[in-house]
Amino acid sequence: MREFDYIIIGGGCAGLSLAYELETNQKLKDKSLAIIEPREEYKRDKTWSFWKVINHNFEDCVKKSWNNFTINIPGNTKHIECNNTPYQTIDSGLFYSKIINTLKKNKNINFFKNINEVEIKNSFVFNSLSDNHYDKSNLWQHFSGFEIETDKDLFDDKIFNLMDFDCDQKNSVHFFYTLPFSRRNALIETTWLSDLNNNSLQDYENQLKDYIENHLNIKKYKINFTETGAIPLFHLKNEQKINQINIGTAGGMTRLSTGYTFLNIQEHSKYITKNIENIKNHKKFTITKKYKYLDNIFLKVLKKNPEKMSQIFFKMFLSSPSTVINFLSNKSNFFEDIAIISKMPKWTFIKEII
Ligand SMILES: Cc1cc2nc3c(=O)[nH]c(=O)nc-3n(C[C@H](O)[C@H](O)[C@H](O)COP(=O)(O)OP(=O)(O)OC[C@H]3O[C@@H](n4cnc5c(N)ncnc54)[C@H](O)[C@@H]3O)c2cc1C
Repeated sequence: MREFDYIIIGGGCAGLSLAYELETNQKLKDKSLAIIEPREEYKRDKTWSFWKVINHNFEDCVKKSWNNFTINIPGNTKHIECNNTPYQTIDSGLFYSKIINTLKKNKNINFFKNINEVEIKNSFVFNSLSDNHYDKSNLWQHFSGFEIETDKDLFDDKIFNLMDFDCDQKNSVHFFYTLPFSRRNALIETTWLSDLNNNSLQDYENQLKDYIENHLNIKKYKINFTETGAIPLFHLKNEQKINQINIGTAGGMTRLSTGYTFLNIQEHSKYITKNIENIKNHKKFTITKKYKYLDNIFLKVLKKNPEKMSQIFFKMFLSSPSTVINFLSNKSNFFEDIAIISKMPKWTFIKEII
């Protein structure tokens, strides 16, 4: 079996982002890389969105960018501007083809369907798979979306809706998320923050149809794309191995209070690439500890007080836009952290800290 200097297990968002970063920084001229990916074909399967708080390699894969958004609770809407950090949506289909087209030019990079096809023992491994069992009783951000097309101009594509809590919460945390890509085309998602044991929260299709037809009042539409997923809001634990670094969701790149992962993956890929020559001895890249601490408290509050969460999210957005965006994107300074914390209901949070 062939040996490789590096092996990436999982050619998804993290695996391909890392391979692209290594390749475009000329780190694979004299080194070989195997990417293990079982999928038969790459096509659009996800829509990755985030506030652009750092530069990334995929501007040409951005489907749409917004400078304004809203958040709603029943009877109240907050409009927020984000001119300095636009909210971007990446089309995963464009992302995959851009990366695959770049990687296939280098003969040192090879794709395999199964790890058994390569010799692993002398390689350095970047692993995006988790050893964890699928723990349904833990907290997940689970969601499903329809990308719809209408025959009339029904959307305002200058502004997206981050969270609409004006919907049935079922003793949980529930909101709709609407990304209008044009005046006739939008991705509408139903999102829950809960465990995965309650099947009644997972009749996504009915929730979406009801929201589109009775809340947005859109009766005539065509569904062009559907997306369903679940992001663990807990860190997946992998066995630590000397010659292995975990990447992506399995590498702890998800911000637990929000589910945002894409930009953390990009930062991790840059960090690995910069230090690749001596990666074994470099400090592990992690999301800053303060966010882990704060998110941990936030999620404890969320689990115990789901009925308060729409108000809590809404109040968080009463801070200045840059403060809240920096905080949610792990870029906040001490004063911004304090500003966010001061918006939280004190006693509810103190109880969880104690
Ligand atoms: C539907 C969806 C939407 C999301 N939207 C956002 C968003 O808007 N913003 C954001 O920041 N984050 C988002 N996330 C979270 C996160 O960015 C994505 O989950 C991202 O794809 C994580 O990258 P990853 O490489 O860890 O996992 P993946 O992209 O899932 O890659 C894992 C890869 O491993 C492969 N694989 C599976 N089994 C094996 C095996 N046995 N051997 C080798 N390979 C295997 C899979 O085929 C896959 O290609 C979203 C997640 C989902 C599921």
